This record gives sequence, structure tokens and C-alpha cells, in this order.
Amino acid sequence: MKKVGVLSLQGDFAAHGAALERLGAQPVYVREPAQFREIDGLIIPGGESTTMLKLLRYENLMEPLAEFGRSRPMFGTCAGAILMAREVTQPEQESLGLMDIGVERNAYGRQIDSRVTAIDPAAEFEQRTSPGKLEAVFIRAPIIRRLGEGSKVLAMYHNDPVLVEQGPHMVATFHPELTSDSRVHELFLEKL
Ligand code: GLN
Repeated sequence: MKKVGVLSLQGDFAAHGAALERLGAQPVYVREPAQFREIDGLIIPGGESTTMLKLLRYENLMEPLAEFGRSRPMFGTCAGAILMAREVTQPEQESLGLMDIGVERNAYGRQIDSRVTAIDPAAEFEQRTSPGKLEAVFIRAPIIRRLGEGSKVLAMYHNDPVLVEQGPHMVATFHPELTSDSRVHELFLEKL
């Protein structure tokens, strides 16, 4: 059985755990460095990236997390995507730099900061999982403003990439863990 870490300092880690269980994987709720030895890959959930950063520093997890990501697959959703990016703006903040992308935080503005919408994933996403629209929940989401080399866009919303794969890693600016559609997690499990 695949053991998948879910960083559990803050945010909606429990929803990721439930999504993994639905797919027959075993979630490991990661709160300390020793746990990296037990897992095949790691998910950084949505939440508040600034708060997560503070807790990561406090728990001395920044370096072990970055090191894990240099050798094993990681998947970041929303705040998790912000933490995995190389550049973060609005405002600038420290990140792990595991994905060569640039993100702008809270980029949809205050008025329409959260929404649920059905998007058409890329053909490749449907080929690797199964066909059908993807329900995307955006909550104070970032926008990916720069895509580095080797990025594969697996879904777009209003001309912005919202699901991107780069080598072993993946990020989503929406929250696949909050819907019953398990295909995004399924895709991540394929990478482990
Ligand atoms: N706005 C949050 C941030 O900047 C992300 C929101 C989320 O994870 N749903 O970290």
C-alpha cells in the first residue's frame, strides 16, 4: 500500500487524507522530520501559506521538506502550490522553490475570491485518468504567472494554468480534496 505524507501543521490536511483513503492509499499526517522516512510522496494542503511557513520554521521542517522534495514526488494544493513555487508575489515570501513556477497570491481579488466551477481538463489528464469535466473549488487562490521549462499544463481556467506537472511534482491552485472526484489524487499516486 502506498504511504503518502500529508503535511499537517495547518489547513485542510484531513480532506486530503480522506481522498487518499478513498483511493486505497495510506495517509501519514506529517508533523515532524522523522516521518519523511516512512513516506513515498507528500501533499502540502491548502490553508494559509504565511501561517504554514511560520509553523514550518518553528518546527524546523523547512530544510527536511525541501530535501524530501528534491528526491520524491510532491503535490501542493493552493497554499501548498505557493510553498512549492520558486517565486511568490503579492507579497513576496519565502518558499521551497521545488517547482520552477512563479505564483501571485490571492490573485483573483476580493470580490470573487472563492468559487466552484466545472473546467475542461487537458486531453492528457483525461487519458491518464478518465474522461469528464473537473469540478474546481477556488478559495482565495493564487494564479500561476510563470511556467518554467518542463511544465505540463493539465488544466486551465480562464487562460490561466490551474493544474501543472513538472517532473515528479504537481501543483493545483484549486482544491481537488474538497470534491468527490478523485482523479487529481489518482494522478499523483501514479507518480509515486
Ligand atoms: N490565500 C492563501 C495563501 O495565500 C491560499 C488559500 C488556500 O490555500 N485556499 O496562502
